[in-house]
Amino acid sequence: MQTDTIANQVNQLQATFSTGVTRDIKWRLAQLKQLKLMLLDHEAAFLAALKTDLNKSEQEAWTSELGFLVSDIDHSIKHLNSWAKARKVSTPMFVQPGKSYLLPEPLGTVLIIGAWNYPLQLVLAPLVAAIAAGNCAVLKPSELSVKTAELLALYIPQYLDKLAYQVVTGAVVETTELLKHAFDHILYTGGEGVGKIVMRAAAEHLTPVTLELGGKCPCIVDSTTDLSVSAARIAWSKWMNAGQTCVAPDYVIIEKAFLSPFVAALKQKINEFYSADASQSADYGRIINARHFARLSAYLQDQDVLVGGNVDADNKYIEPTIVLNPSADSPLMQEEVFGPILIILTVENIHDAIPFINSKAKPLALYLYTKNTHFEHQVLSHTSAGSVGINDGMMFMANPNLPFGGVGNSGMGAYHGKFGFDTFSHLKSVLKRSFLFDVALRYPPFSQSKLKMLKKLL
Ligand code: NAD
Repeated sequence: MQTDTIANQVNQLQATFSTGVTRDIKWRLAQLKQLKLMLLDHEAAFLAALKTDLNKSEQEAWTSELGFLVSDIDHSIKHLNSWAKARKVSTPMFVQPGKSYLLPEPLGTVLIIGAWNYPLQLVLAPLVAAIAAGNCAVLKPSELSVKTAELLALYIPQYLDKLAYQVVTGAVVETTELLKHAFDHILYTGGEGVGKIVMRAAAEHLTPVTLELGGKCPCIVDSTTDLSVSAARIAWSKWMNAGQTCVAPDYVIIEKAFLSPFVAALKQKINEFYSADASQSADYGRIINARHFARLSAYLQDQDVLVGGNVDADNKYIEPTIVLNPSADSPLMQEEVFGPILIILTVENIHDAIPFINSKAKPLALYLYTKNTHFEHQVLSHTSAGSVGINDGMMFMANPNLPFGGVGNSGMGAYHGKFGFDTFSHLKSVLKRSFLFDVALRYPPFSQSKLKMLKKLL
C-alpha cells in the first residue's frame, strides 16, 4: 500500500468537490445512470463473483444485491429532483414577513466502508445515496469478499467519474490509512469492534459517522401465528446467504408447548427449500472463510442440536441447524451467530420474551410472528430495535420509504431512499426576511414597554 497514493486519491476527490461539479443535479443523475449501466453490463461477472465469494445462487444474488441496487438507483433517479429541492417550513408570526426553508447541500468527500456478507449492496447502496446527495466518495469494499472487491475496483473507474469516485481495496492497513484523512462523513458497515475504531478515528476530525452494525436479532413466535407461513418466512430469512445476514433472526423465543410443532414446520421448510441434503443444493450458501467456519463450528460443541449440525470444513459448509436452549454464558448466546445456526429459546409464557429482549443490547431488527394485535402492541411499545418485522423477515429492507439503521449497540444513523440522501446531505436552515415592517422592538435602547410587548409576542 502506498500511503501517498491514498492521500493523493483523497486530495483529488476533495479538489473535485470544491469545483462544484457534483452539485449539478443533471451530473448526479448521469452518474447514477452510469452505475446502473455498470451493474447491468457486468451482471454475469458480478453474479459469478458472488458465487465464488459466498456461493450465492443467482436468484439470491439478484434479489439481495444487483436487483436491490438497480431498484434503489431507479428510485433515487425518480425522486432526486424533489429530494434536492428547498423544503419549506412555516415561519412564526414574530419572524414575519419572512420565508423559512431547509436547503439540502452535499457534505463533501465521504468514506464508505463495506462488509463482506452483501459485498455489492453494502458498498453500492450507500454510494447511490452519496452520489444522489452530490458528494465525492471513496469506497472501501471488504477484503474478505475477494472477487467482488476486485470487480468493484475494476469497473467503478470505467463507469463513474474517476475524479469524484475512487475504490481503495485492501484490509486493516489501508482502512487505517484512509481513516487518518478528514472526510466529511463516514458510513461504516461491519462489526461493533471496528465500529469503535472508525468512530474514534472520525472524532479526530469531528467527522460525523453512520455506523451500520449488527448484534443478535430476536424473533418472537407466538402460538397464535400462522405456523406454516411463519416457518417459511423464518427459514427464508435465516438461511438466506447461509445465515450471514445482519438482520437474520439470531434466536427465536417460543412457548414450551409450541416447540414441537414449530420445529417440525421449520424442518419441513428447510427440506423443501434445500432438499434433505443442503450440501447438494445449488441454492444454499457457504461460509465466507475458514476463520468464520471454525468460529461457527465451535458454537455447536456441547449443544442440543435439534436439526442439522453437519459441517464440512473443505467446502466451508454448515448445514441449516437448529439448537435448543444454549446456556446463557455459552458463546452462542454471548455473540452474534452470523451463520446458519438458529437458536430456539423456550419460555413458559410468551410475554416473558419482552424482559428477556430488554435485558440484551438493542438489536438491529426484531421480529414478531403473531395474530394477537394486543401482544403486537405490547412488543412494539415495550422493546427497542432498529427495525421491526411483524409476520415477515427482512422484508422491510425492500421498502425504500423505511430507513435502515440500528439503535444503541446495533448502530447509529440510517439510510435507504430519501433517508440515505439526507444522511449524506446537510439540511441548511435558511430564513429570508423582507425589508418591510422593520419593527424596532428588538433594538436598543430597551424599555419596559418593549419588553412587555415582546413577552406577549414570543
Ligand atoms: P468485515 O470483516 O468485512 O469488516 C468490515 C470492514 O471493516 C471491512 O471493510 C474491513 O476492511 C474493515 N476493517 C476490519 N478491521 C479493521 C480495523 N482494525 N481497522 C479499520 N478497518 C477495519 O466485516 P465484519 O466486521 O465481519 O462484519 C460483520 C458484522 O457486520 C456483523 O456484526 C454484522 O451483523 C454486521 N453487518 C451489519 C450490517 C448493517 O447493515 N447494519 C450489514 C452487514 C453486516
